[in-house]
Formats: sequence, C-alpha cells, structure tokens
Amino acid sequence: MSTTSPVASPTVLRGVPVVPGVQYAPVIRAGRLPDIQAPAGDLDEADRPAEAGRFAAAATAVADRLRARAAHATGAASEVLAATATLAQDRAWLGAAEKRIAAGTPAVRAVAEAVDQFVELFTQLGGLMAERVIDLRDIRDRVIAELSGLPEPGVPLPDVPSILCAEDLAPADTAGLDPQLVVGIATTLGGPTSHTAIIARQLGIPCVVAVTGLDAVAAGVMALLDGTAGTLTADPDASQAAEAVAAAQRDALAARQWAGPGATADGHAVAILANVQDGAAARAARETPAEGIGLFRTELCFLNRDSEPTVEEQAAIYGEVLEAFQLGKVVVRTLDAGSDKPLKFAGHPEEANPALGVRGIRIAQANPGLLDRQLEAVAAAAGTTTTAPWVMAPMIATADEAKSFAAQSRSYGLTPGVMIEVPAAALLADKLLEHVDFLSIGTNDLAQYTMAADRMSADLAGLTDPWQPAVLTLVALTARAGARAGKPVGVCGEAAADPLLAAVLVGLGVTSLSMAPAAIPAVGARLARVTLEQCRGAAEAVLGTGSAAEAREAALAHL
Ligand code: PEP
Ligand code: MG
Repeated sequence: MSTTSPVASPTVLRGVPVVPGVQYAPVIRAGRLPDIQAPAGDLDEADRPAEAGRFAAAATAVADRLRARAAHATGAASEVLAATATLAQDRAWLGAAEKRIAAGTPAVRAVAEAVDQFVELFTQLGGLMAERVIDLRDIRDRVIAELSGLPEPGVPLPDVPSILCAEDLAPADTAGLDPQLVVGIATTLGGPTSHTAIIARQLGIPCVVAVTGLDAVAAGVMALLDGTAGTLTADPDASQAAEAVAAAQRDALAARQWAGPGATADGHAVAILANVQDGAAARAARETPAEGIGLFRTELCFLNRDSEPTVEEQAAIYGEVLEAFQLGKVVVRTLDAGSDKPLKFAGHPEEANPALGVRGIRIAQANPGLLDRQLEAVAAAAGTTTTAPWVMAPMIATADEAKSFAAQSRSYGLTPGVMIEVPAAALLADKLLEHVDFLSIGTNDLAQYTMAADRMSADLAGLTDPWQPAVLTLVALTARAGARAGKPVGVCGEAAADPLLAAVLVGLGVTSLSMAPAAIPAVGARLARVTLEQCRGAAEAVLGTGSAAEAREAALAHL
C-alpha cells in the first residue's frame, strides 16, 4: 500500500485474459475513421469513368500497402496481412462498388454500400465467414480514407512503449504491431479466439479482451495491464505498478528456466501435457518439457475433407502423433465433429441449435461405423509404435454413452476414457467411472454448457470464464469421483493454460493438465513454486466464492 493516499482510487477494469504478462505504460488508442459525409447526389455521366479510376487506384494502394507489410512480417502475422490484402482485391466486392459508381454513386458511398452488402451476407452465413466481417470493414475504412486523402486509420506509431486500447482491432492492425513499442493490448470486444488474441499470442504481447468500461480510458493515461489476471488499471499507484511488473518478469524468467517434469514445490507429481492437432504440432510439443499429449483433437485433421479418410490414411496421421511421444502418454480424442467444427463427411443434420445438437459422441449413434473405423485406425497406428494410446470421447452426457464407448474401445485393445464437458457428466462422474479408466475435463465446453453461454460469443466471455465458481464446482465433483475410483482425472480445456488456475485445479484434485504448448513453461514453473497444501487452500477458497473475479482474488491470496 502506498503511504500517500491517492486523490481517487485507481479504476480496475476487468476483461478476459488472453496473453499473460504485466506492463505499465501510457495508453494509445487506435484511430477511427472520422465520419465522412459522402457527397450527396449522383455523379454526372461524364465524371463516372474518372471516379471509377480513382476507386481502383485507392483499392490497389490499400492492397499494395498491406502486401508490403505482409512481406516484412512473419508467421501468422504475415498470413493475416496477406489474407486481408487479398480480400482488398476481391472481385466480388470491388465489382459491387464499380457497379454503383457506373450507375452514378460517388466512390466513398459506393464503397460503404458495397461493403455493407457483403457484411450482411457474411453475417448471415455465420461461422468463419462472419469472422471476415471485421476484415471487410477494415478494408472499407482504409479505402475510404485513401479516397478522402486522410491518413490510414488504425494504430498510431507510438514514440515510447505503450498499451494499445481499442474497441476492437482489425487483423491487419494487430499483425503489423511492433512488440517493442506496443507492449500491451486491451480491447472492448473480441474473445479469446479472436484474431486480436491469436496475433497477440504469436507476438507475445500481453493482452486482455472484452474489457468492460475501456472506452473511458483516454490516450495518455498511465495504465497497468495484467494479461494473467485479465485487468487493466487506469492511473495505478506508480510504485505498486512497478512492483507488479518486476514480479511478472521474475515469473517469466522462472518459466524460461523450468524444465519439467510437472510437480508442486513439495513433489506432488502432476503430468504436464500438450494439446495438439497433428504430427507437426506433436513434434513441436516434444521441444517443450511436455510429458505427453493430453488432447489430440483429431477432427482438426479433417476439416477440409469432403469424404471420410480411410482407416489407412487415419492410421498414418495418428501414427505421426504417437511417434512423437514414443515413451510418453498420448490421449487421442475421437472426432468431435459438429457445432463450430462441422465435418462434411460426418453427415450432420440441419439443426437450429448445433451446439446442443448432434455433435461429438452423438454422431456415433447415427453413424456407428465412423467411430468404429477411427478406433480401428488408432489401434493400427498403435501397432506400429511403442506408444499405448488412450482414447476418449467428447460430449458424453450419460453413463450409457460411456459404457458403450468403453466397450467399443476395449474391443480394439485401447484404454478408454471420456471427456467431461456436459454438466450431467460431471454430476454423474462416479457412474461414468464404472465403465472407463480416466476422465478428462474440457473446461471450454463445460463452461459453455454450465453457464448456458456460447463459447464463441465475445459478449458472453465473462460468463464462459473458467474461473466461474459454478464451473469449478463441477471440476471439484469430477476430481473427487476420480479419487474415489482411484482413476486419473485431467483437465484439457483452456483453464489448464492459466498458471494460477492450474494450481487451483491441482488443489481440486486434478491429476494432469494439458494445454497449448506455448503455455507449458509458465504453468510448470508456477506449479513448481507452490505446495500442494497451498493449492488445496486456494481450491477451497475458490469454491466458497460467488463470482469469477472473487475466485481469482481468493486464489491469489493463497498462491
Ligand atoms: C473443451 O471443450 O474444453 C475441449 C478441450 O474441447 P474443444 O475445445 O476442442 O471443444
Ligand atoms: Mg470441447
């Protein structure tokens, strides 16, 4: 506590933590395109060709600039910039604007109308197409600025390291960021899977999304951004802020030095595992201290396939992942098709509410052969390596589903488990464990179904926060059931990637944690710093809270 009492207490704004790290710096705000009044009335016939030329030149200039930035960027940033440049030159919307100009609409208005037309279409299509809406609007603003002789909207280049605050960031803006100058990001919109989050993760810039009240934080204000706790504090006490930054730097150093295996400071072992989607990711995970694979999302291998891969094709793909961890543990999840991950060959019915529809294990009811052939392929892959894979089914809701999956898996000599993603499964974990050898908690879906909140919705990100005490209560029930049965219970949802929450999960009785490989060092290092007793104390405290924010604070007090 500061000895001088501040005039007004600092404002702590809460959001959803996306990239860990703590920074204290002045705020900059992403520029918006000022309101531009498109000239009223229509163009004279004689002026239309020149206006069409001006439009073509503006669209080309915007695309060229994006492509030039793509050439200077790397990895996902370069891909995002190149994709936005391609969209800037997409014939569909360019054609729609040209048609309007040819009919007499001035270019600025033609651009706005043409983009609106496609925004509506993409929004109706939903899914991945809807995610392009933000790119389209970004292109619209850039082209309109170019046509109006205004500076390109977007992120100003700061003179000193700064925290970038914005309503939302266009992918092209985020992809071009210099992590030396933009040291933190906070947005009002966006979820943990938004473009902003993906690029911030790649660039390693601490980031919090879905921050309530962020619009009131003006440029120039000093702010403390905590990408681990998910907070932005405007005007904090300067010395406390400096101490918070120093502590985060000590944590980062410890993470870099952590070499595994997973255990608490007093030696309680907790397997630290990786989530992967193919052989390449598994080989990359082997470069980290991961002790194995806790979640192999097999459906991600086949999102672009029109027809079902043969058993041989599947076995080759699964074999690559098994080979990467010859002596370790590998948990293969059977196809989690449906909802946000439809597979063309799975034969999904038309559904009004696909998240509550035929997804995950439910597909096996209408199409049992699909699961059968996948298990056959996993067994075939296992036969070519020294790894004995475990298999688990997603979206299990009843003990009968667990029983039938277990029998089918065992008939191929595989060790069966099920995911706990539906509250019903957590409540009946004892019954499920009568049939299977392990449980793995998918906190992403468990939060979605417990809180009745779409995991893809940025507006509901506060509800799908895995720190919600209701979600953690179901985790506790599941872990206790595992302990009674003497069977392992892991967590493989995003919750396991949050170092503080990971320690709470261990306190709740979880026996392994599986996460994106990038999160492994920070989680491992944090766990190595705390005792099992501290974890248990934090877990007990968290279960007594009434909100996600209180739960975080209660855990921090113990850990
Ligand atoms: C989960 O739901 O937590 C999970 C790990 O599965 P997915 O994110 O692939 O739905
Ligand atoms: Mg899931």
